[in-house]
Amino acid sequence: MPPRKHVRQQRRKQAARRALIVLVLLLILAVIAGGIALLVNTIRNHSGGGETAVTTTVGPREPAVTATATLGSSGDILIHTPVLRSAKVSSGVYDFAPMFKHMKPYVTALDYSAINLEFGIGKGESDYYQREMIFRVPTSLIDTVMDTGYALGLCANNHVSNGSSLALTESTYAERNLDHIGLRGSAQDKRYLVKDVNGIKLGFVNYTYGSATSEQTLVNYFSTANLDAFYKDMETQMANMRAEGAEAIIVYLHWGSEYQIKPLESQTTMAKKLCEMGVDVIVGGHPHKIQPLELITAENGNQTVCLYSMGNILSNQTIESMYGGSYAANRGGNFQDYGVCKYADVKSRYNDSHYGEHDENCNDNGHTEDGLLFQCNFARYEDGTVFLSGVDVLPTWCYSKARNDGSKQKDYTIIPLDKKVSDWSAAFGVAEEDVIFAQRSYDRTMALVGDGITEINAACKTNIDAYVEAFKKAQSPVTTTQQ
Ligand SMILES: [Zn+2]
Ligand SMILES: [Zn+2]
Repeated sequence: MPPRKHVRQQRRKQAARRALIVLVLLLILAVIAGGIALLVNTIRNHSGGGETAVTTTVGPREPAVTATATLGSSGDILIHTPVLRSAKVSSGVYDFAPMFKHMKPYVTALDYSAINLEFGIGKGESDYYQREMIFRVPTSLIDTVMDTGYALGLCANNHVSNGSSLALTESTYAERNLDHIGLRGSAQDKRYLVKDVNGIKLGFVNYTYGSATSEQTLVNYFSTANLDAFYKDMETQMANMRAEGAEAIIVYLHWGSEYQIKPLESQTTMAKKLCEMGVDVIVGGHPHKIQPLELITAENGNQTVCLYSMGNILSNQTIESMYGGSYAANRGGNFQDYGVCKYADVKSRYNDSHYGEHDENCNDNGHTEDGLLFQCNFARYEDGTVFLSGVDVLPTWCYSKARNDGSKQKDYTIIPLDKKVSDWSAAFGVAEEDVIFAQRSYDRTMALVGDGITEINAACKTNIDAYVEAFKKAQSPVTTTQQ
């Protein structure tokens, strides 16, 4: 092989190698530049003649929130005879507004709120006073509930049939345009409600334990002895709600055992099954005490927020009236059924030296005075995905105070235990010596729901963050140039 030819070949090879290196370097630079272009949104190019061309590169961006909705839920309204007497202004005139007045700003701040109407409507004054545990109420209570901001009545409960008739109760709500579920006007009516709440369609159903007599087929019942039938019914209702556009499903259940702060096995079993079926939120009532707030995750990955019981929002189930067996005795019931406090000296909150020591299921441990406004927040993103974006709880306390006018009458006031309000006494009229009981109520409630709030809000954030990341990843950058 002649040397010159060999040298020329070597030079050609070196040139080719250099060209390859330059090409690789250029490619690397192009990739880096492309990456920078994704990060830099706008590059302004000044071309000749003073004209300005604007090149906009839209890189990965977060999905826009297109709608938000806030839902509130409150528990049992129990119009015991002392509460009814307290509302009486004159013959036939009952005013419940003072009992609810402090709740109005909190309820009206939410887009839509539900409350458990644990009673039936009475025909008139003589009709209201029946016997203990028959709750027939004046229609003015409904006006107050609606004026407070509650727009959805939960009617599937064990007292709805206490009224003069189910038809009167249902028509009272229908005439006032109070949305109501769990009780229907006729067997042809739907068992559920799909409501557009601030642009998001929420599907609601309400069921109670028990079984239907012929008249009560208008009430939604489930039987713990035949839960398969309930699940089958729920499947139908959920499919119907989704067909009507429901983007989240909220199930209110009247269930569990009275005066328990722990859910029964039947409650946890039902909650788990409904979670598996795709229910988003479960909210319970009936135990007259708040039960825990939990995030349930099913084996199929579904997640459901479950507040097992909302407690009482308004009642005469005070520490005093719940003392020991006296409450059970008043009802003609058996002491053992209702739990007996082991402390013989607890006859009122003021001589209760055992605060914090009562059995969790003692009648007189104060839990029956506790209620709440449970808040669920929903958000829809631009591609139509709807998330539960967070939860919150405003604990409430049913404050009862002797009227001090020589009568034996008490005043009942629902106190919003809002920690942003520095002075509950000044803001809500709680007597200085009673603020400690308001604080105890707050502590009892937060001990049951506080961890749940934290856990659920963390899970909501994780779910939404993952969704936002996936949304960004799926985008390719778009470049537009405007002259
Ligand atoms: Zn009940
Ligand atoms: Zn006790």
